[in-house]
Amino acid sequence: MTGSDGERPAGAISLVTGARRGIGRVIALRLASSGPVALNDIEQGREELEGVAEEVRRAGGQALVVPGDVTDGEQVNAAVKRVASELGRLDVLVNNAGITRDGLLVRMTDEQWRAVVEVNLTGAFLCSRAAAKVMLRQRSGRIINMASVVGVMGNAGQANYSASKAGLIGLTKSMARELAPRGITVNAIAPGYIISPMTDELGEEAGEKLAALIPLGRLGTAEDVAEAVAFLASPTAAYITGQVLQVDGGMHM
Ligand code: NAD
Repeated sequence: MTGSDGERPAGAISLVTGARRGIGRVIALRLASSGPVALNDIEQGREELEGVAEEVRRAGGQALVVPGDVTDGEQVNAAVKRVASELGRLDVLVNNAGITRDGLLVRMTDEQWRAVVEVNLTGAFLCSRAAAKVMLRQRSGRIINMASVVGVMGNAGQANYSASKAGLIGLTKSMARELAPRGITVNAIAPGYIISPMTDELGEEAGEKLAALIPLGRLGTAEDVAEAVAFLASPTAAYITGQVLQVDGGMHM
């Protein structure tokens, strides 16, 4: 990394949360093609996380497994510290870990509300705070937050999830303003409906109905999202900060 111009040279070091499966796994594999990648997910997912690390290594990349719960500040700080000390620096943080606990508003429990806000929003805050301390010293870095089209449009049955993702967009813009003077960019990606374990739960018929609502006529893939992440993490995107990049086939425009 050179100076405070936010440039990201070959060999940049990335940390991806929620990387054991789904979109996070594909993002990690994509970023590993341009530098070492640290893989985070919950401790219970360690076996799958080790599997993704193996995939990275088989493809000729370098991977470090740093399990930990993104809602636990101590675990987050320890993971970021390990990345900085074992890989030397931290250039890109991708706050991808996320959960859903859907339910209609009047039936939504306190637990459903709190769990989703805690992982999707507080988790991103804790990881960003820890990573920013390293990036501020470097005077460069990229933070990329995985929001959602429903954080922009809202969605019946997902008050908790859409509020957490809308909050993540506010967090993105505030951090972008605060960290810009030190060469750190912060952006969000708002995927639409992406084929993944999260959307598989909806079933085939619901998937077809969703596709009919999307101008490009299909659900997205994890690769569609990973390419957008790779772009925002690249030197090409050095002058972009505080933005929400919609990767949704035109669902929201
Ligand atoms: P997924 O459930 O397959 O992956 C999420 C990962 O986050 C899992 O591996 C999970 O173990 C991990 N995670 C959950 N809680 C964690 C915690 N406390 N600490 C660390 N890791 C934790 O889901 P996905 O579809 O791959 O979604 C990835 C991200 O993209 C999420 O933020 C999701 O909200 C967002 N997103 C997904 C879609 C979609 O259609 N799939 C659409 C828009 C946004």
